[in-house]
Amino acid sequence: MTFQSEKWKKDFPILNQVVNDEPLVYLDNAATSQKPEVVLDALKTYYLTNNANVHRGVHTLAERATSQYENARETVRRFINARETAEVLFTRGTTTSLNWLAQSLEDTVIEPGDEIVISYMEHHSNIIPWQQLAKRKQAKLNYIELTEDGHLDMENARKQMTEKTKIVSLTHVSNVMGVVNPIRELADLAHSKNAVMVVDGAQAVPHMPVDVEALDADFYAFSGHKMLGPTGIGVLYGKRNWLERIEPIEFGGEMIDFVGLQDSTWKELPWKFEAGTPNISGAIGLAKAIDYLETIGMDAIMSHEQEVVKYLMPKLEKIEGLTIYGPKNLNDRTGVIAFNIEGIHPHDLATAMDMEGVAVRAGHHCTQPLMNYLSQPATARASFYLYNTFSDADKFVEALIATKEFFLNGLD
Ligand code: PMP
Repeated sequence: MTFQSEKWKKDFPILNQVVNDEPLVYLDNAATSQKPEVVLDALKTYYLTNNANVHRGVHTLAERATSQYENARETVRRFINARETAEVLFTRGTTTSLNWLAQSLEDTVIEPGDEIVISYMEHHSNIIPWQQLAKRKQAKLNYIELTEDGHLDMENARKQMTEKTKIVSLTHVSNVMGVVNPIRELADLAHSKNAVMVVDGAQAVPHMPVDVEALDADFYAFSGHKMLGPTGIGVLYGKRNWLERIEPIEFGGEMIDFVGLQDSTWKELPWKFEAGTPNISGAIGLAKAIDYLETIGMDAIMSHEQEVVKYLMPKLEKIEGLTIYGPKNLNDRTGVIAFNIEGIHPHDLATAMDMEGVAVRAGHHCTQPLMNYLSQPATARASFYLYNTFSDADKFVEALIATKEFFLNGLD
């Protein structure tokens, strides 16, 4: 495995650089991933040879662009095991997917007094759209509590889901603690209350095999840029019966069937949701990223991340004053490690680590309710991906120890 990640790393030219006189160790993958050369080449080839608007033209370039765009949808469908391409909508990313949904579901499922269930570990993108919906409709937003080591408390999940619950929206993997949630079990619970099950898959799809049918999710959202693809492209998967029930929230070109003076009709799925010129190159780049991920294999990626984390944890645990958030059982998590060192502000820590060439993140990670729940204003976060080697893990630990020495003992 060590050898393989060294090999994979070579496919990412950006990683081969010196930052602050040190070789770059990029550990901010939960924020965004780097892109392999094949993805960059696909974008360039598209613009060099095939660029045209989709679905409208009969000329050769328009046909090429359309078929590449629609083939990309088929690649996504296969990757997440959706039943048909009609169930795969291209969006700008997870945030857009969840915002679309919260608006589209508003008129279909929520009445005043109804309940929406999320959890304390959600990203702001999976909190605020529901908060706004709850305010508009005088509905109630309820939070599933967490266990001491950062799992969803399933006992509490059963309590939070009531006969009034109409929407359950939960993250598949936490962007702070890396904990993997039992989505199938949660979907079964939600369905037993006749609620719609929405999943934020932003931190899952890049790191593990995801099968939307096996999970029985009604909707599943994710972003291309966290899985080796370009920014500005994402996906909203929805079961056909749901997508047929809800209305689009954006209107304009591309999504219409017939436009009259006072009324219009929509195209069939999936196009009724895709108003305006889509991110064509983004979809093509995402499909290329998926091809790349598939040649390595999602099981291999997941087990590589877990091996790196298992290698790291005992070393981190030896650092006095260091607290790690999230599950102790390393099989329940991906390559995301949130931590704090007593006496050092995470921002100072991340700045000092950058001086050692190690890119980690510090802050609330768009999870302020989780930070409050953990009684922490902020944490540092290192997030590993397929191209992070064991040597990266060693450099991370070395930089951490040097940083701690620098701040607490004044040594350089
Ligand atoms: N949900 C989770 C769990 C995330 O980690 C992120 C990205 N940090 C998002 C949603 C939002 O994704 P995007 O910014 O790509 O829309």
